[in-house]
Amino acid sequence: MSVNVTEIFGSNVFSTAVMRERLPKGVFREVMDVMKHGGNISMATADIVANAMKDWAVEKGATHYTHWFQPLTGITAEKHDAFITRPEDGKTILQLTGKQLIMGESDASSFPSGGLRSTHYARGYTAWDMTSPAFVKEMTAGTILCIPTIFVSYTGEALDKKTPLLRSMEAINTQGLRILRLFGNTEAQKVFPSVGPEQEYFLVDREKYLKRRDLIYTGRTLFGAPAPKGQELEDQYFGVIRDRVGSFMSDLNEELWKLGIPATTQHNEVAPAQHEMAPIYTMCNLAVDQNQLTMETMKRVATRHGLVCLLHEKPYAGVNGSGKHNNWSIGTDTGENLLDPGDTPNENLQFLLVLSCIMKAVDTHADLLRQSASCVGNDQRLGGQEAPPAIISIFLGDQLESVVDQIISNAESVKLLASGKLDSGVSTVPVLNKDATDRNRTTPFAFTGNKFEFRMVGSSDSIADANTTLNAIVAEALCEAADQLERADDFNAACTKLIHDNMAQHQRIIFNGDGYSDEWVAEAARRGLPNLASLVDAVPALTTEKAVNLFTKFGIYTQSELEARADIMYETYVKTIKIEANTMIHMAAKHYIPTVIGYTTRLAQSITAVASACPEAELSVQRGLLKDVSARLAEASAALEQLKPLMDRVDAIQDVKEMAIAYRTAVVPAMDALRYPIDQLELMVDKSIWPVPTYGDLMFEV
Ligand code: ADP
Ligand code: MG
Repeated sequence: MSVNVTEIFGSNVFSTAVMRERLPKGVFREVMDVMKHGGNISMATADIVANAMKDWAVEKGATHYTHWFQPLTGITAEKHDAFITRPEDGKTILQLTGKQLIMGESDASSFPSGGLRSTHYARGYTAWDMTSPAFVKEMTAGTILCIPTIFVSYTGEALDKKTPLLRSMEAINTQGLRILRLFGNTEAQKVFPSVGPEQEYFLVDREKYLKRRDLIYTGRTLFGAPAPKGQELEDQYFGVIRDRVGSFMSDLNEELWKLGIPATTQHNEVAPAQHEMAPIYTMCNLAVDQNQLTMETMKRVATRHGLVCLLHEKPYAGVNGSGKHNNWSIGTDTGENLLDPGDTPNENLQFLLVLSCIMKAVDTHADLLRQSASCVGNDQRLGGQEAPPAIISIFLGDQLESVVDQIISNAESVKLLASGKLDSGVSTVPVLNKDATDRNRTTPFAFTGNKFEFRMVGSSDSIADANTTLNAIVAEALCEAADQLERADDFNAACTKLIHDNMAQHQRIIFNGDGYSDEWVAEAARRGLPNLASLVDAVPALTTEKAVNLFTKFGIYTQSELEARADIMYETYVKTIKIEANTMIHMAAKHYIPTVIGYTTRLAQSITAVASACPEAELSVQRGLLKDVSARLAEASAALEQLKPLMDRVDAIQDVKEMAIAYRTAVVPAMDALRYPIDQLELMVDKSIWPVPTYGDLMFEV
């Protein structure tokens, strides 16, 4: 199948180009101006834009529009309204008014609000985010015009992930411009973060998926013995893509390209049946929207291929989980990347200042950054023996680390390590220039050339929180730098000193070694770096005095918005673990235990039959198996009997935080205790009677 990429790319997006073509010049200019500099468009303009948008969408086959928003569930929400108006003479006309475009009033009282909106004040408002273009989505429910919006309460509090993100981008803009002006840059009018998220996922055969209640209800396997083969041969990573997966990827690309999402990279990941897609980076808020659309599209396209896309952070125990590497940098409207070190980072004062501010930001707010990547599924991944650990540190690579070391030790002149040549020893292969830095897969926050790669974010999670936090903490450090430097008499001297001080005070956050090792855990503790193993441990970071000061200073979150978010995280944790535990109870009681009882019964009957047919027959194998299987069965049954009353006790706890802690410290271990004997039983009994597909079936038969 051949696809004309340039023709389909962005064909479902109401882009700037489409607006230029379809809007009167004056209207187009007004819209562009507000998009760039903020402010409001007049209602007359909104009417014209809305009408053009509707005409364009209808030509694409759209029948409905929706305000598309990102509530605190972490996914997107939409309510479709048809363009039709009240029929007159039995006829209707299609309409989208400026008011409908700009604002929606939503009776969405069932979205999590963490107490920001009690049900008797149920009004929530969606408001058009002009910086993210409208698009049409082709679904079985119809073709829908989606208008990206923010979602706020009657009193203006953010009920979504987008509003704080946009506020944090304004903070980066303001503080970034202050820094640029100090360096004599008068041209740049805008400073903004850019993001390119690499999305990992698993694919599983839909028929097999439907036989596993754990995958259906929780997105991950709650039981399952390891297959004889896992990822030890490392033959999956970058391996040849199988046909069925390949045709999924090809369809996915096409769908994403239509939505203007520049999907570029695709490959097999480390674990069997695990894959990755990376788009080209774009403006932070757009990247957040596009990543949501990517996840949604992956799920939809997979179904078409008889597959299910698992976005859970840890679908299978014993092999790697999935994350989302959040590549982040700060750029200007004139095309400068503030994180580009150039050829001589040792002499690039502006780069070193920004770098020193990022070191300060990440060290000061390591707890918050860790929190920003918390989601329930990520607890299964962070801190296990896979990327990355739960301890935040920065990897700079040899060259930059050496620059930092020299600055800290007040070196006379800061020298650059030679980046060197790569000579393969094969005479027909040219000698290549090496990258200045090797990669370090074990680090959560890596400098990779001209961007930082924040590797902690979970594969199913919205990237909004992580970027809001990154933007906020860096804006604060830039602001503090600007406060000092704007007052300085000798700018160069003051700047050099500030770089030195920032780096010296925050050097402990730099770590170039093996982030998986026990030595690092001990070393990090010595350095006083936080090690927050679980979401439940990380949530308190949201509401510390330090966090409240940071977020309120830049108007990103109010204190009550932060408290609401903390509550929602605890609530979500409790609900998710509870669903998992209930699913385990269901599967143990309805699938596994009855199956094993049947098995032991048949085994006992056959022992009796063989013994009566042949009294001299050697029956030690059968008897041994019956004894061992019965012992594990008893263990499983006892664990099941303990889990149920334990959950009742924990559910009686009033305070949501206390309840989350109890789920984490008591219920999760009780779930592990139930899983273990059942996984052992799976290894002991006949494959043909096992009631659900095994790890081997799920991971190797895609
Ligand atoms: P790496 O090999 O270091 O992971 P890639 O070139 O594969 O880097 O890029 C990974 C992701 O990072 C892609 O989504 C890419 O678009 C994005 N990216 C590249 N440069 C930047 C940048 N300056 N800012 C943000 N993201 C970027
Ligand atoms: Mg990468």
